[in-house]
Amino acid sequence: MSAAPEQVTVTLPDGKAMTFAKGVTGGEIAAAIGPGLAKAALIILVDGKEYDLFRPIEQDAKIRIITRKDPEALELIRHDMAHVLAMAVQALYPGTQVTIGPAIEDGFYYDFARAEPFTPEDLPKIEDEMRKIIKAGLPTRREVWPRDQAVEHFKGIGETYKAELIASIPAGEDVSIYWHGDWHDLCRGPHFRTTAELGDAFKLTKIAGAYWRGDAKNAQLQRIYGTAWRDKKELDEYLLRLEEAEKRDHRRLGRELELFTFSPDVGAGLPLWMPNGMVIRQELEFLALQEERKDGYRRVATPHIAKEALYYRSRHLPYYGEGMYAPLDIDGENYRLRPMNCPHHHLIYGATRHSYRELPLRIAEYGQDYRYEASGGLSGLMRVRGFCMNDAHIYCRYDQAKDEFIRVMKLHARYYDLLDIKDFHMRLSLPDLNKLDKFVDEPQKWLDALAIIRQAMDESGLKYVEGKGEAAFYGPKIDFMIKSTIGTEYTISTNQLDFLATQTFDLKYIGEDGADHPVYVIHRAPLGTHERFTAFLIEHYAGAFPTWLAPIQARVIPISEKVGDYAQKVLDTLFAVPVVKPPTSGCRRKSATPSSRKSPICWWWASGRRPRARWRSGCVRARTWAPCRWKLSSPASKTKRNPAGMWPNNPFRRTG
Ligand SMILES: [Zn+2]
Ligand SMILES: [Zn+2]
Repeated sequence: MSAAPEQVTVTLPDGKAMTFAKGVTGGEIAAAIGPGLAKAALIILVDGKEYDLFRPIEQDAKIRIITRKDPEALELIRHDMAHVLAMAVQALYPGTQVTIGPAIEDGFYYDFARAEPFTPEDLPKIEDEMRKIIKAGLPTRREVWPRDQAVEHFKGIGETYKAELIASIPAGEDVSIYWHGDWHDLCRGPHFRTTAELGDAFKLTKIAGAYWRGDAKNAQLQRIYGTAWRDKKELDEYLLRLEEAEKRDHRRLGRELELFTFSPDVGAGLPLWMPNGMVIRQELEFLALQEERKDGYRRVATPHIAKEALYYRSRHLPYYGEGMYAPLDIDGENYRLRPMNCPHHHLIYGATRHSYRELPLRIAEYGQDYRYEASGGLSGLMRVRGFCMNDAHIYCRYDQAKDEFIRVMKLHARYYDLLDIKDFHMRLSLPDLNKLDKFVDEPQKWLDALAIIRQAMDESGLKYVEGKGEAAFYGPKIDFMIKSTIGTEYTISTNQLDFLATQTFDLKYIGEDGADHPVYVIHRAPLGTHERFTAFLIEHYAGAFPTWLAPIQARVIPISEKVGDYAQKVLDTLFAVPVVKPPTSGCRRKSATPSSRKSPICWWWASGRRPRARWRSGCVRARTWAPCRWKLSSPASKTKRNPAGMWPNNPFRRTG
């Protein structure tokens, strides 16, 4: 159907066509379809482009009306809300300049230039002003200005950041200006018809520093964050989630439980492990030692630095240079802090000759590494510049690679099972064979290595997704991804199959035929780095670690001086107990009460008021605060009688 020149035909998503006078608006179309839609409509998509409901439609188009129920609504609400935030701030704090204010995941922010700092006490005031603006139902108006006129205008009213922003738009282009009542801003749109359509399911959440255009060399701005939702119920649910996540945030718990700290004197991203945190580190290392021994690993120790030439040879420098620390000059030669442990391990493998009978050779080390991360990317223990990795390299023959890879996957499964980690997924990272400058140019070897990993994954029955272009430069890898409680997804461990090391480090074995053959290397780190893994565990257990991992497992509290000797006896006995197994019940996350979450102590032991009567019995409290009796004599033999599942006979340990 073709419309007359002064008419436009719009096609709805269901294929139905409607004809209107040219210049019809989305609002009018919605009203023509029905009064319900007219009310619920927020914006309209015109041939896929977002239009305000009041913007005239000048040509035939496919349209879709977006309502509050559509998934797009949240971003629209948050974008409008950022404008309202800027309006409120400028009304309350004259002289404040606006810069930019986008919608983000879960909310929005706006960056302001103001000499005086905002304080948390300002936020409720700003919220009240925002509510007033929303209630007033200010109408929105869109204007199109030539770029240069807009630059002059914003300069004229003292908005230098806006003027700079607009000046960076190509000359000759028009820009759109949005008005809400008599407040206006440069904006691509779209916006709602009135501020009343936003609703008031919002909250300002925090103030942070930011730099103009994200560059630390530029002026510092003040960022106000907020969250906004369709309705009150959604907002409340979000705030509850946020509260729960904050309670579990490893940065906060790490401080409260005295697990780790950072010092400006040492440097950003370089954690200092405190005694409590060190217990977790050591227990993880002990666990790794035990589990790796079952799988035939042998341990090595290597230095944290090496000559720069080593990293040219390993190709870390050409491929990974921006992730490394700058060189250190030692006796006129450049040394580097190591970003990975592989080259050192390769040199150990290469130090002796190996026959086919010796393989696979599995060498392991909790190795300390240093990588350069931009300061803006650092986050608690999750993203650091110095870390200690649960590393190992398996040197094997081609025909062993698949089984070795499966064995590594099974080791992961054992750890995850033990630590009750269920919420993770695996990603097979493939090379982008069109971008071989990033990936070593050996297409056939890539395909062979991929085939081995795919077979190993299929045989181990583990589910995974594939991701293109994310492989390590020396081979395909399997990443284990987890989500932190603050919602960021992290790679917790990585396993790679490496066919390059055999060339770069001349790693060979002597085959049955007496000739040299290339070695395949598997890089693996199931427990990741101490830093990231501990960060994850803190959030995973909300700070209430299982007994075997807990920094302080028990505390003995003598209630009077008279029971001092008894308390000492209890303490000695507890110290003598060599084993605490990850319990199957009792001291678990689900049993942790809010008040006890803050306590790193799993078990409390109070000696009673009547020492005589209690000489042979103590009162033990688990985190649940449900008291239980437990006989002191010979704890190891009392396993079955212990109602809370403490002290079972198990190879897991507790020393000191
Ligand atoms: Zn806008
Ligand atoms: Zn490695």
